[in-house]
Amino acid sequence: MDIKRIKIGSSNIYILQGNGSSVLIDSGGGGERKNKKLIRSLNKRGISPEDLKVIIITHAHKNQMGGALFFRRAYGTKIIADEKDSMTAKIKGRGIFGKIRAALAKNEKAGIISDIHATEGLRLAQFGIQATILSLPGHTCGSIGVLTDDGNLFCGGVMENFIFPSPSKLAQDFVLLNKSFIRLKMLPIKMVYPSNGRPFKFKRILKNKSY
Ligand SMILES: [Zn+2]
Repeated sequence: MDIKRIKIGSSNIYILQGNGSSVLIDSGGGGERKNKKLIRSLNKRGISPEDLKVIIITHAHKNQMGGALFFRRAYGTKIIADEKDSMTAKIKGRGIFGKIRAALAKNEKAGIISDIHATEGLRLAQFGIQATILSLPGHTCGSIGVLTDDGNLFCGGVMENFIFPSPSKLAQDFVLLNKSFIRLKMLPIKMVYPSNGRPFKFKRILKNKSY
């Protein structure tokens, strides 16, 4: 399986290309300019928007789901998300930088109605990728991750990589976020692909004793 990162605005979108099928993880903030950039990036890889099997939304903040609403309207693309994210609450910040970012994140209150409910353990083989949905609440109540069988974790907003990798400094519920993070420590994860920042090796974050 081939993984390609596209950065649109401040957030990442990942294109997963398997045996003749393509899946998106997150979709950018939407709007004409961002949607066009996303379509161009797909076309460059020989994918037309109609070919997309599904779009998986790691959590229903605007920067992750805006494009998916357009794809569903224009091409009938199915959206996989946790139904607990049909509405999201206001985000809180941890630490001084987290608090500043939370204060600036006016658009972070959002939500999405999914076509396919992303329940814990849902296998994605039917969409051409060998991976499983993990329920990882905290950043939003319905935050999910996608763990491929070969150890790539698309973690959405559970972890981030600003300067160095860390658990997210923004969450609706930090107790839940910490629980989700601790759960991940037990899993056979090699690479982490966050919504924000560059992908990183999971062992980099495990080495940091403060987490
Ligand atoms: Zn978010």
